Amino acid sequence: MRITTITNWAYGITVVLTALSGASFIMSSRSALHERVAVEEHLTLDTLAEELALGAEVRSDEARLYVMRGEERHLQAFHAEEQTERRREDAAQKLGAQKLTPAEVAALADVARDAEELDKIEVAAVEAFQRGDKVAAQGVLFGAEHERVQKALLQTVAHFRDLTATRATSELEAARARSDWWSLAAEIMLAVTGALFVAVLYFVLRRRVAMPLMRMTGIVSRLAKQDYTVELPIDRRGDEIGEMNEAIDVFRTNLIERERLDSERRADQHTKDLILQMMHRVQACQNQAELTDVVVRFAPQIFPGLAGGLYILNEGNTSLVRTGAWLDPQHSAAVFPATACWSMRRGRSHQSSANGSDVPCQHLDPPGVTALCVPLTAQGDMIGLLSLEERDEDALGPLGARLYLELIAENVGLAIANLQLREKLTTLAVRDPLTGLFNRRFLEETLQRHTRDHAGEPLVCLMIDIDHFKRFNDQFGHDAGDLVMQFVGQTLRETCAPTGNAFRFGGEEFTALLPFLGEQEGIELADTLRDKISSVALSHAGQILGTVSISVGVAASPGEGSVETLVTRADAALLQAKAEGRDRAIAASAIHRKS
Ligand code: GH3
Ligand code: MG
Ligand code: MG
Repeated sequence: MRITTITNWAYGITVVLTALSGASFIMSSRSALHERVAVEEHLTLDTLAEELALGAEVRSDEARLYVMRGEERHLQAFHAEEQTERRREDAAQKLGAQKLTPAEVAALADVARDAEELDKIEVAAVEAFQRGDKVAAQGVLFGAEHERVQKALLQTVAHFRDLTATRATSELEAARARSDWWSLAAEIMLAVTGALFVAVLYFVLRRRVAMPLMRMTGIVSRLAKQDYTVELPIDRRGDEIGEMNEAIDVFRTNLIERERLDSERRADQHTKDLILQMMHRVQACQNQAELTDVVVRFAPQIFPGLAGGLYILNEGNTSLVRTGAWLDPQHSAAVFPATACWSMRRGRSHQSSANGSDVPCQHLDPPGVTALCVPLTAQGDMIGLLSLEERDEDALGPLGARLYLELIAENVGLAIANLQLREKLTTLAVRDPLTGLFNRRFLEETLQRHTRDHAGEPLVCLMIDIDHFKRFNDQFGHDAGDLVMQFVGQTLRETCAPTGNAFRFGGEEFTALLPFLGEQEGIELADTLRDKISSVALSHAGQILGTVSISVGVAASPGEGSVETLVTRADAALLQAKAEGRDRAIAASAIHRKS
């Protein structure tokens, strides 16, 4: 039931009860009036009866004085009193006709009768006296009959007074009881009215003031504890409570908005921190494997809603090869042609949408998925690609995500370009371009590194020279000579792998370093190498070049000498092999024994 309905009913009942209570008070006061009227009536009747008795007595006295003294004034007083008594009797008769009960009327008739009888005796006595019969008159007035009638008159008057007194008392009690009843009823109704008023006031205060205030206190407390799930009931009241409710609603909305902005800012800051950490690590990477590892670890932390892969362009710039992936991407192959990606063609980010609003990249399977390709570039050159797929709904939606992705792509692209450049420079610095073997400079570095890091560990050195190489140049041209050199280099590399390293020492001379081998094992390896090389008949540009032989000098360390003298000793052994007729391997220790 609506609160206004309840209060309206309560006000209505209060008004009715107040009116009834007023009416009861009026009834009560009317009963009190009746009570007073009963008292007055009783007083009137009582006085009248008393006066009748007294009047009869006075008349008897006057009559007796007259017959005793014979003075005229007593006769006049006797007659005057008689008239007064008649008036009183008339008055009593009139009263009796209106108000008296039948018993009282009968008692009053008795009084009148006795008064009449006494009057007759006294009038007869007075007349006897006037006739001169003084003795008879005195005899009558002082006689037994006169006394009896006078007593009877007094008794009937007393009886009448008793009756009126009894009636007056009962009327008085009835009127008082009525008055008391009405008064009680009025008081009860007033009490009920008061209680109802208080109850309604309490109800209204509780429902309209206390409860909303308590509720708002609870809401404000929860908001203070940053519990923004608290629901604010809609209360469109126009009073102060309603205004407070509205103010709290605005306060809550502002808090929620501030909390949202704060959490966005925190999330953004967290993302920036992660990106910064990632960048620091990317810059410190030594090779592409390390860089891929960094990207694969950080990317899912920065973009938990995006699965993806890091692709790098192959040497011919034709294919993209996936070097790492995170969160299990489903829609891109591990290798695909660079032209299959619109971002690689355009040199800028490309989003393939599930709704088909733009052309999808061809490397996506199926094509109708939401994915973002961000090209990795460095100084205008294509390096690779970040391929991203949505795992969570709308993970690519926020503009910030795309900006961060492009920032990451730019940094990763630059880092890969730097690594590739460094790799190229390193290769140029340590490799011989013709044979692909390490160069002499790297040989010296390797020897120094061995002395520094592996001092005392076995190491064998092979110095290799192609026999009569000049002949190939002279007979078939330099290109044929280069081919022979490449063949020997490749065979040397394959034979030394996986434990050793092969170097081009200079011209048509090569060196091999093999750790953990002794001199004898070096000789065996040299013989193996010689067999492999001499077993192949080479041809170039349709010309048969024939077979190639090599001479090898072998020296070992630390047993036969120090690492510092290793190359010199091997070279001396090589010279010895040449001197002994070529196409052979000679150990450095064998020269010493001979000499
Ligand atoms: P030996 O058996 O005594 O070693 O005779 P050889 O002809 O192999 O040795 P020699 O020192 O007389 O000749 C080496 C030649 O190798 C001289 C040089 O022109 C040639 N040569 C050096 N470097 C290259 C190269 O990179 N390519 C080609 N094609 N020839 C080279
Ligand atoms: Mg030679
Ligand atoms: Mg030579």
